[in-house]
Amino acid sequence: MVFGGFEKCTLIDYPGKVACMVYTIGCNFRCPYCHNPELVDETVEVKITEDQVFDFLDERTKMLDGIVITGGEPTMHGNELIKFMKKVKEKGFLVKLDSNGTNPSVLKEAIDLKIIDYIAMDIKSPLSKYTQTVARPVDVAAIRESIALIMKSAVEYEFRTTVIKAQLSLQDFDEIGQEIKGAKKYFLQKFIPNKLLNPQFRKKATYSDEEFLLLQEKMNNYVKYCGVR
Ligand code: SF4
Repeated sequence: MVFGGFEKCTLIDYPGKVACMVYTIGCNFRCPYCHNPELVDETVEVKITEDQVFDFLDERTKMLDGIVITGGEPTMHGNELIKFMKKVKEKGFLVKLDSNGTNPSVLKEAIDLKIIDYIAMDIKSPLSKYTQTVARPVDVAAIRESIALIMKSAVEYEFRTTVIKAQLSLQDFDEIGQEIKGAKKYFLQKFIPNKLLNPQFRKKATYSDEEFLLLQEKMNNYVKYCGVR
């Protein structure tokens, strides 16, 4: 695999762990608020090879707990991703995968092979609004399948939603809550208007702190823990 970005150390992207992070190239969604447009439209100039990542890991076996694989959408790389994760696990590192949930078969393979330790899946909106939210046609049955697969697996996980007021009404969260009912962890992520796929979204707002408290209270009726980031 070739990556479009690499961070040597992150203390915030893998809960409770010290990790490095690789960014895969390409995505099947076009979320207007995406912070990685160059990965999504595949114009990224920096390229990091798999061998470079493994050389780095070999030198850091005592310093790092694991690796975060984010994107873009990592599962678009199918077998290549699976092979990469296998090699990382063989080296003794934990693997966290960030995904938009569009490829349940890749998630299932990683879970069955026990080469994944943490899954963070985006829940972009109620399923009825997905296509509109991510600006691409979406197989919502696949999203639902990924949610079910993750929740019934023994792998640690979280679901998360980036919150933009113009995209998600307070009522929409009830529909999201129904889809992930009983989930262990769910995070509401405040939209931060910096580098965006659609620059027009820079003017969009997230909810107020008071409204986030209400949302948190609402979502805690559906999930075991709801946090705000
Ligand atoms: S936010 Fe994630 S799913 Fe959406 S376009 Fe960006 S990389 Fe793809």
